[in-house]
Amino acid sequence: MKYVLVTGGVVSGLGKGVTASSIGLILKACGLRVTSIKIDPYLNTDAGTMSPFEHGEVFVLDDGGEVDLDLGNYERFLDIKLTSDNNITTGKIYQSVINKERKGDYLGKTVQVVPHITDAIQEWIERVAVIPVDGKEGPADVCVIELGGTIGDIESMPFIEALGQFSYRVGAGNFCLIHVSLVPVLNVVGEQKTKPTQHSVRGLRSLGLMPNILACRSTMELDENVMTKLSQFCHVPVESIITLYDVPNIWHVPLLLRDQKAHEAILKVLNLKGVTGEPALGEWTARAALCDKLHEPVRIAMVGKYTGLSDSYLSVLKALLHASVSCQRKLSVNWVPASDLEDETAKENPDAYNAAWNLLKDADGVLVPGGFGDRGVQGKIVAAKYARENRIPFLGICLGMQIAVIEFARSVLGMQDANSTEFDPNTRNPCVVFMPEGSKTQMGGTMRLGSRRTFFQVKDCKSAKLYGNRSFIDERHRHRYEVNPDMVAQLENAGLSFTGKDESGQRMEIIELPKHPYFVGVQFHPEFKSRPGKPSPLFLGLLAAASGQLDAVLKRGLTQASAMSNGTSALKHRKYGNGNRAADGPVVAVYSNGNGVHF
Ligand code: GLN
Repeated sequence: MKYVLVTGGVVSGLGKGVTASSIGLILKACGLRVTSIKIDPYLNTDAGTMSPFEHGEVFVLDDGGEVDLDLGNYERFLDIKLTSDNNITTGKIYQSVINKERKGDYLGKTVQVVPHITDAIQEWIERVAVIPVDGKEGPADVCVIELGGTIGDIESMPFIEALGQFSYRVGAGNFCLIHVSLVPVLNVVGEQKTKPTQHSVRGLRSLGLMPNILACRSTMELDENVMTKLSQFCHVPVESIITLYDVPNIWHVPLLLRDQKAHEAILKVLNLKGVTGEPALGEWTARAALCDKLHEPVRIAMVGKYTGLSDSYLSVLKALLHASVSCQRKLSVNWVPASDLEDETAKENPDAYNAAWNLLKDADGVLVPGGFGDRGVQGKIVAAKYARENRIPFLGICLGMQIAVIEFARSVLGMQDANSTEFDPNTRNPCVVFMPEGSKTQMGGTMRLGSRRTFFQVKDCKSAKLYGNRSFIDERHRHRYEVNPDMVAQLENAGLSFTGKDESGQRMEIIELPKHPYFVGVQFHPEFKSRPGKPSPLFLGLLAAASGQLDAVLKRGLTQASAMSNGTSALKHRKYGNGNRAADGPVVAVYSNGNGVHF
């Protein structure tokens, strides 16, 4: 196992996660198998109880792990499936050490940060690095470790110490340290300043870690004399200094690294030169270029609570992007603060109310993402009503689906007080209820989490077609409430179709309005499994419906499905620009893998 450690200096928010994922991607493109570990030095055991507004979205893994959003970047860029152990936190490390202490594993000893915590960190890394994450057997070749935070943070000290010991232990040739730093450009004179990077490298070295490669974020390419200066002061060869200057979209980052031969520098440090090929990034390059070229817009209204910070809905945004590129449209997101759509706002702040409604009405499609708590719920309900009545394509995710059910019960069944017991415990018409297995006292890790199976109930519904007419699908979940099984028959009789249910048939997973052009709600979070070039089917459905291409997509899905039942393998990814695409049709990217069809 070879290790690539990515650290960050100067300031946070430099795009260290994207850089680390891109490094993984170019190594993978060279033919290596790559896994990754993200270290978050905060005390929380996991990201599950943290506010998306402060920390960005909580990403959910197949095994139910609620983790940092950077793991989503790794899964998307490397097309892998990580486990919750691939996200290390101070909380998890201390918990494991304290559990061992209680068991008596350290009998007679004083338990200390060095060596007990630092040993636990190293053991954790070695154990997790060998877990296969790419569907193949046996461990990967390279493990990319990203250390969250910035060098010098108090919380990361035990990790730095552990990683210093670790690099020494695995030895030269097996460990490569890439330090991501900032080279600010002073506006007045346009001068590129190296001092912050010099300082952060000095900090790193004083803690016992020597960078092999510098990845410098800057607004423009670094001048040659700046590179020379950095090389001299930071003791890093010029050819190992990479500039990550601003690019039109993040898919260019791996290409920047490749163009500056970052892979050669890394492979040299890892003693892998000559073992691997040149990075094969043809498809990736074509997609990055296509994304820049798209100009015909498709507008999606995101009706959410955290519209001020786009990281709060990162995976949803990525899934929208993947689907819009497949539909050859430029994604434009209308952020609609849900509470501004409410009547209350009309009285208190009519400007905000009008602005919100204009944004909603201006959109070609409406998306209500997941969420917790009652703020903005009424606004989401009116957004769902607007989409249903005006036949605007709609996708409701988790809370978004529950909202759509509440709205339907209120408007179509005339149950004025229909609600979720999450928002109104005393409602006479509880159409969304607390799940029997949930907990209201223990908040961490007690939801219905991770990959669960959904069985399609209706053969020719839109969602089944979009998923290639499979009989079941596995998607990731994160919820405590569910549609009240006792009210399903009533809702169904009034025209709401429950097209997907769990294995018991009691838990509702997918709703659809068959007569509506595209009105879909799902209890799961399809966004977490969307990939560049392999958009999540339901997002593809939304974007296709919003850009007038749904029929073409559904037809194509059927052709593929019938080809599959004939035993021919038609489900191959369609590469961009291979001339197979119908004149104006969307690029439908469907993959086949050894385990059946996988989107
Ligand atoms: N609050 C809802 C529940 O717990 C929805 C959760 C979500 O959207 N992730 O069921």
